[in-house]
Amino acid sequence: MTKKITGKTKLLGVIGYPVEHSLSPVMHNAALAQLVVGVGVSVSEREASPREDIAQLGLDYIYLPFPIEPQNLEVAIAGFAAVGVVGFSVTIPHKQAIIPLLSEITPIAQTIGAVNTVSRQNHKWVGTNTDIEGFIAPLQTTYKQDWSQKVAVILGNGGAARAVVAGCTQLGFAQIHVVGRNMQRLQEFRNSWSNSPLAEKFQVHQWEELPKLIPQANLLVNATPIGMYPKVDESPLSVEEIANLSTGAIAYDLIYIPKPTQFLHLAEKQGAIAIDGLEMLVQQGVAALKIWLNQENLPVEVMRQALQNHLGLGK
Ligand code: NAP
Repeated sequence: MTKKITGKTKLLGVIGYPVEHSLSPVMHNAALAQLVVGVGVSVSEREASPREDIAQLGLDYIYLPFPIEPQNLEVAIAGFAAVGVVGFSVTIPHKQAIIPLLSEITPIAQTIGAVNTVSRQNHKWVGTNTDIEGFIAPLQTTYKQDWSQKVAVILGNGGAARAVVAGCTQLGFAQIHVVGRNMQRLQEFRNSWSNSPLAEKFQVHQWEELPKLIPQANLLVNATPIGMYPKVDESPLSVEEIANLSTGAIAYDLIYIPKPTQFLHLAEKQGAIAIDGLEMLVQQGVAALKIWLNQENLPVEVMRQALQNHLGLGK
């Protein structure tokens, strides 16, 4: 479906540098193309078909990529305000740098220390982070259970691991273990939470401690880039290490291509349940679009399908 731009079309986008590989325009424009059709359709017509309801909200938006070099961030944000941008996604390298330029950031974004979604509210820029919502979505729906007696083991201590720690805390895990390869960076990760109530909720460990941690894991998350395209034969854990994962544990890889990653392939052979990173990507986008459009009812399947088609993934 092609989007028709009119004089009333409102602007959304993603800022990053570089930004041309961002998948957000694919996913968001697919949703926005659905939402724009049917302007002028009556409420009774909309109510006649719930499927059509989604496609007939008459919302007129477009979502564009904006490559913004770090030194131009401040002037770009001022320009966005001037031209009436409604909201935008934030990706590398601006996720932290944007914070001082915003009027408000939500407690969630404060907790993670990074902003991935900005919206214009009452003539002010408000930043939040939807990665937690994205990460926990499959664990709250398809794999929903009582997590309060469960153990999470997280591989990696980078930006995504922060959302995973916060998400596991939100789900109420009994124990959360973060495993990293570099003691200094692990300590920095630990110390960066020192003013947060979450600091008490997780422990950090060096990679060498994995043989002890893996058998305890009910949820094992790969929050490292190991196994990402094009190095598709790599896995953060060896066959021998994964062999200690208990049957029925959940292996969750934040990577979404290839499908499955070597990590998930090995874990599934071990009898684990596999979750890949595509749903996190979709659901963090859905959460952002809900904020910008002030709409709960969004064409989630259209967004998922657009990404799958773009990435050449089967259903
Ligand atoms: P990041 O900030 O660069 O962090 C990467 C982490 O992986 C760091 O802790 C790094 O360790 C660790 N690491 C890298 N290579 C390693 C190795 N060979 N052995 C052990 N640890 C290693 O990256 P990120 O933003 O957190 O992203 C991590 C992954 O999640 C990426 O694959 C990204 O695509 C994916 N992701 C997916 C979604 C989604 O929506 N599905 C969202 C965000 C991220 P050091 O600290 O020691 O360098």
